[in-house]
Amino acid sequence: MKVIVIGAGAAGMMAAITSAKYGNEVILLEKTKSIGNKLKITGKGRCNLTFDGDIEDFKSNIVKNSKFMYSSFSNFTNKDAVEYFNSIGVKTKVERGGRIFPVSDKAEDIVLALKNELRKYNVKIDYETELRDFIIKDNTLIGIRTNKKDYFADKFILCTGGKSYKATGSSGECFEILKKYGHNIIDLRAGLVPLKSNDEICNKLQGLTLKNVNFKILDKEKIIYNSFGEMLFAHFGLTGPIVLSGSSLLNRLENLGDKFTKKDICGIIDIKPALSLETLDKRIKRDFDKYSNKEFKNSLVDLLPQKMIPVIVELSNINPDKKVHQITKEERGRLAYLIKNLKIQIVDLMPIDIAIITCGGVDVKQVNPKTMESKVIKNLFLAGEVLDVDAFTGGFNLQIAFSTAVAAGKNI
Ligand SMILES: Cc1cc2nc3c(=O)[nH]c(=O)nc-3n(C[C@H](O)[C@H](O)[C@H](O)COP(=O)(O)OP(=O)(O)OC[C@H]3O[C@@H](n4cnc5c(N)ncnc54)[C@H](O)[C@@H]3O)c2cc1C
Repeated sequence: MKVIVIGAGAAGMMAAITSAKYGNEVILLEKTKSIGNKLKITGKGRCNLTFDGDIEDFKSNIVKNSKFMYSSFSNFTNKDAVEYFNSIGVKTKVERGGRIFPVSDKAEDIVLALKNELRKYNVKIDYETELRDFIIKDNTLIGIRTNKKDYFADKFILCTGGKSYKATGSSGECFEILKKYGHNIIDLRAGLVPLKSNDEICNKLQGLTLKNVNFKILDKEKIIYNSFGEMLFAHFGLTGPIVLSGSSLLNRLENLGDKFTKKDICGIIDIKPALSLETLDKRIKRDFDKYSNKEFKNSLVDLLPQKMIPVIVELSNINPDKKVHQITKEERGRLAYLIKNLKIQIVDLMPIDIAIITCGGVDVKQVNPKTMESKVIKNLFLAGEVLDVDAFTGGFNLQIAFSTAVAAGKNI
C-alpha cells in the first residue's frame, strides 16, 4: 500500500517508520529543509522524550482529552517508547520528577536515530514540499496538492503539528485546509507559555529563580491553578515549569481577553509553602531576635534570596530603617502574610509563537481514537499536536505524539 505522511516532526517520523515496518511504501513530506526541527530543541536541547510512571500519571498530566488518548497510549506506552529508543541506540535515563532524557543529553541523538530508522525502512523523504490542499473524491482523500506537485496514495497521515515556534515549520496553515473540508478546529491558543505582567516586581526580580515555591493563579477569588515547584522572574513577567503549566489552564478561560483587560487574573506566590503562617511568624520572630539591633532592611538575609529582600521590604510598608526590636507584632504578621501571598498581576499570555505547545486543534470527536482516522474524510489519519490534546511539561506531549503516530502507522 502507498502511504504519504505529511510533516516530519516527532509524530510524522514515528508514523512513517511504523507504517513502513508493516511493509508499506512510505513517502514523508516535509516543508522545511530538515526533519525533526522542533524535536531538536525540546527539553532545552536535551529532549524530555517521555515520563517514568503509569497510565494514571499520564492521564493526570493531560490537560485536555485524556480519554481520547487511552487506546493509543495503551498500545504504545511510555515503557514502549523507552524500549523502542533503547533498541534503536538511544540509551535513556530518568531524572527528577520522572522526566526521561537520552543519556547523552542530546535531543539531536533522538533525531539521528529516527533518521536512521527512516533510512532502514526505505522511507523516501521529500524536503521543501508543502501541503497546500487535499484532493477528495466521494468523501475520500485520494491525493494532495503541494507547492511542487500532486501526490496520490492509498492512505495519508497528517502530522503537521500546531502553530507555535513557526521557525521550526509548524505554522498552522493546515488547520485551514482541514476546516475547509469539514473538520472542526478547536480554538488555537498558546499553551505552556510564559505569563506577561506589568508589575514592577518582575522587572526588579528578573533572573531570579525560586525553587520549591507554591504558585496559584486566581480568577477574581477563584483558584484556577495551584502547583508546587520552580519558577522564574523575567523582564516580561513570569516563567519556569509551574508557571508554564499554569498557562495551559489559564488559556481555557472563556472571554480571556476581556478578563485580562478587567485585571481579574493574578498569580500568588507562596515563597515558604512548607511553613504555615503561624510557623513562619515564629521563624521570623527568631530571626528578629537574632538581628534585634539591626535595621529591618538587613534582617531578612536568613529567610529570603538576596535579590528579593528590597522588594519584600518595600511591599511590607515597614520602614526599612526601623530597628528590628521596634517592629510590632502586627507588622511582623503582615510580613509573614506577604511572604506567603506575593501577588503578581497577570496582564496576558505571551504570544503563541513562543509557546511550547498549541492548545486546541482538530476536534477529537471527529477522530477515531483507536486508529486515528478522521471520521470526516476517509483515508486521512491524524497524529501529534495537530489534534486537540495537550499536556503539562514532563515528556507527556512527546508521548502523545509518539502514541498517536504509532496508532495511525499501525492502523492504516
Ligand atoms: C522549545 C520547545 C521545547 C519542548 N520540549 C519538550 C519536551 O522536552 N518534552 C515534550 O514532551 N514536549 C516538548 N515540547 C513539545 C513537543 O516538541 C511537541 O509537542 C511535538 O514536537 C509535537 O510533534 P508533532 O510531530 O505533532 O509536530 P512538530 O514537531 O511541530 O512537527 C510538525 C512538522 O510538520 C511540518 N509541516 C507543517 N506544515 C506543513 C505543511 N503544510 N506541509 C508539509 N509539512 C508541514 C513542520 O515543518 C514540522 O516538521 C517542546 C516544544 C518546544 C517548542
